Amino acid sequence: MNANGATLVASNIHKAFGDHEVLKGVSLSVARGEVVTLIGASGSGKSTFLRCLNLLEMPQQGELAIGTHKFTFGKGMRAANDAKLALLRRSVGMVFQHFNLFPHMSVLSNITEGPVQVKGMAQSEANELGRDLLAKVGLADKADTYPSRLSGGQKQRVAIARALAMKPDVMLFDEPTSALDPELVGEVLSVIRGLAAEGMTMVLVTHEMAFAADVSTRVGFMNAGVMAEIGTPEETIRQPRSERLKAFLSRFH
Ligand code: ADP
Ligand code: MG
Repeated sequence: MNANGATLVASNIHKAFGDHEVLKGVSLSVARGEVVTLIGASGSGKSTFLRCLNLLEMPQQGELAIGTHKFTFGKGMRAANDAKLALLRRSVGMVFQHFNLFPHMSVLSNITEGPVQVKGMAQSEANELGRDLLAKVGLADKADTYPSRLSGGQKQRVAIARALAMKPDVMLFDEPTSALDPELVGEVLSVIRGLAAEGMTMVLVTHEMAFAADVSTRVGFMNAGVMAEIGTPEETIRQPRSERLKAFLSRFH
């Protein structure tokens, strides 16, 4: 944890693809146990920002501190070495819209792969951890099933269990329910709600406004590559200040 109590501090993050500046100095500080939801129109930079938080994208400018891992980006930056990147990524779990499970592996193997291959955990210990996590996401009976036999909601719950198996300090979710049939959304949201109740630190991108209002400690509105508004759910969702945010929210009524 940092001196200011934050477990994740992103400061002035800039990211461009060619001459397209997608993030124009985005800052976000997340305290341990907070759930921060990012909302905003398609193309506003939400996914790029999340990907910068685990360095799937390398920002061109700014600073990032997660737990004890610190990076300063910029022209003078020495290339971050692979070991340093790997350590940061280990402490940040990520769940995507499309579940990205390994199709040729059983559900249990999907979950144990990271702890065994990356952390060197004994397979027997990883299996025990994997079974505990499957129980936690309500899939205790699916350990030996292959992903192709699961519904979208079940696949996403496996993806969450897989990310949790690395015991991350922070979990990032990028539209975890957007690819799901409506009747499967609730089962995934309820797993995320359970993690929030346990005090997991999370940054989440979603269009599920009622859920965001309910589960988030803060909600940030991204617009054209900046954090245009951020506050409590009450402030951001119920009392939006800018016309842009009002217009964005009106689509969900
Ligand atoms: P959001 O998640 O809010 O919809 P994104 O972060 O996915 O927004 O995208 C923001 C902008 O960045 C879009 O214009 C998108 O086309 C662009 N972008 C994202 N990733 C890349 C990439 N790898 N290469 C080029 N442009 C990209
Ligand atoms: Mg996106």
